[in-house]
This record gives sequence, C-alpha cells and structure tokens, in this order.
Amino acid sequence: RAKAWGRGTACVFEPEMDTHLRARLEMEQDIKQALAENQFHLAYQPIFSVATGALTGFEALLRWNHPRRGPIDPSAFVPLAEDTRSIVEIGAFAMRRAVADIASLPGGLKVAVNLSPVQLAFGDVIATVEAALRDAGLPPGRLECEITESALFESEQASLAVLQRLREMGVRIALDDFGTGYSSLSRLRQLPLDKIKIDRSFIQDATEGSASAAIVEAITVLTSRLGIATVAEGIETEDQWALVARTSCNEAQGFLLGRPMPIAEAAALAHAGYGVPVALAAGLCGQP
Ligand code: C2E
Ligand code: MG
Ligand code: MG
Ligand code: MG
Repeated sequence: RAKAWGRGTACVFEPEMDTHLRARLEMEQDIKQALAENQFHLAYQPIFSVATGALTGFEALLRWNHPRRGPIDPSAFVPLAEDTRSIVEIGAFAMRRAVADIASLPGGLKVAVNLSPVQLAFGDVIATVEAALRDAGLPPGRLECEITESALFESEQASLAVLQRLREMGVRIALDDFGTGYSSLSRLRQLPLDKIKIDRSFIQDATEGSASAAIVEAITVLTSRLGIATVAEGIETEDQWALVARTSCNEAQGFLLGRPMPIAEAAALAHAGYGVPVALAAGLCGQP
C-alpha cells in the first residue's frame, strides 16, 4: 500500500494515473494533518566509540504513526514528502525535536539529524538550526547533520554554501550511506565534511577476507589520512563488529549494538553510562 505513494514513473493508463495521483494527493493531505496533529516523532539509535565501547550519541530517525495505516517507515513517505516539499516542514520539526531532546541528556552526547536535499535547496536550514540550538542551549558541536551524496545534485552551489555556513557555526557534517552514491572519492575533496558513514551494504557483506572487508578497511585508512572520521552503519552480528573493530573506524551503529528507540529509553542509556556490552568489547581488544 505504501508503494502507491512512492515516486512513480509516468503511468500509461488513465485509470492507473488517476489512482496514483489520488494516492499522492491523499498522502499530501495526510502529511499536512500529521504535522498539525503531531503524528511524527523520532526514534533514537545509539552510536558507540569503536575504541572504547562508550556511547557517543544517537541518530534521530523519523517515525510516522498514521492514525489509519499504523506506523509508516521513512522510506515510504520521505520521497513523497520531498516531491511535495513538505519535507521542509517535517525536517524542521525533526531538527527542533532532536536538538531539544539531546540537550536534556547528560554526558555531552551528540545527535545526528538527517537532512534532505530538498531542505538544503529550499528550506531555511540555517535559521532552523540556529533557532533550535539557541532555544535548547545545545552547543553546535553536539549537532551532526547527515547528508547523502545525491543531496548536492540539486542546486549544488546553494546547498554547498548552506553546508559551509553550518560548519562555520560549529555544526558537524556527515556524509551518509557512503560508497553507494556517485563519485564518492571526489566528494571527499569537494565537500566540507567531518565524518562519513560507511553504508551498511559494505558492513553486511564484510566477512573475513572479503572484498567488502577490504573496502571498509581502505575507506577508514583513506578518511583518517584526510582527517575525516568514520562510522560503520548496520552492524548486525558479532563477526561484523569484530571485523570493524580491527579497522581504524571510529564509531559503529547497528541492530546488534542498539535499535532505534524512544527518547525515554535513549535517556535511560545515557543516564546509565551505557556502553557496548562487555563481551563484545573484550572481543575487540584482540583477546582470544
Ligand atoms: P539512514 O539515515 O541511513 O538511517 C539508517 C537506517 O538504517 C535506519 O532506517 C535504521 O533503522 C536502519 N538501521 C540501523 N541499523 C541497522 C542494522 O543493523 N540493520 C538494518 N537492516 N538496518 C539498520 P530507517 O529509520 O527506516 O530510516 C531510513 C532512512 O530514512 C534513513 O536512512 C534516512 O535516509 C531517512 N530518514 C530517517 N529520518 C529522516 C529525517 O528526519 N529526515 C530525512 N530527510 N530523512 C530521514
Ligand atoms: Mg542517516
Ligand atoms: Mg545511512
Ligand atoms: Mg539511507
């Protein structure tokens, strides 16, 4: 059902086009209502230091609790929200909420917020971020904005200027899903980047001696030479964690280490000074 909402190709038959357009219009309506009625919220996935196992922060991930359809994943509504530009408003909500939530946690933890290319091109990202940080009293260094490589295809210069300005403010910029986009390596030179997130497809194929393992290793070497930090996304198994831990990757995130969770649970982890479970951490330090 969510599929009908996606970015569709042109429909040949009128009745189909009709259905498609109606679904889109309905979705657009639903998004407006969702914003008005606070149906969007955020889940927080913990991110850990690979070297110490300590919790370093959370990634804020959008969730939509639809009154009739139930929970809807971002992959099902973000593309349409981008087409209709309602992602500008949704994204502004996510930014304010995430910054306020993280400011209430102990321990100087960071929060990573995903930015859509449409926000960069058409939204007032700078003003939104400034207001969010000011209202919450969060130091800019504790906010990380995640962008994807495709983010820069539309309005390249304007988007770059926004990123540069964010960086001047002290906000960090991370390149998400690294390795899946177009011209990744030249992006490392062009973009004002503090961090890259290695796409989970590499992590998931990274068995001992595999091509993916070699790629992960090489990416961490390359980025550390460039002064860019790395996060491994999508760690699901102990083997993947052990493999990543042998690289110079800085941080890790994945279902093995922690699922996206409500802010109350995230706060509980923060208050407990939670880290990567000891058994896993020991494996890391090269013990037999
Ligand atoms: P992303 O930014 O790459 O976020 C990581 C996604 O991977 C999340 O999916 C997360 O739940 C999932 N994930 C984390 N660890 C694992 C793992 O070990 N295994 C597997 N299989 N998956 C894992 P989610 O929450 O469904 O979000 C999907 C995408 O939607 C995000 O990908 C991001 O591109 C987009 N998104 C989420 N929140 C926002 C937002 O506030 N604004 C915008 N513009 N996009 C968002
Ligand atoms: Mg992300
Ligand atoms: Mg990602
Ligand atoms: Mg993604």
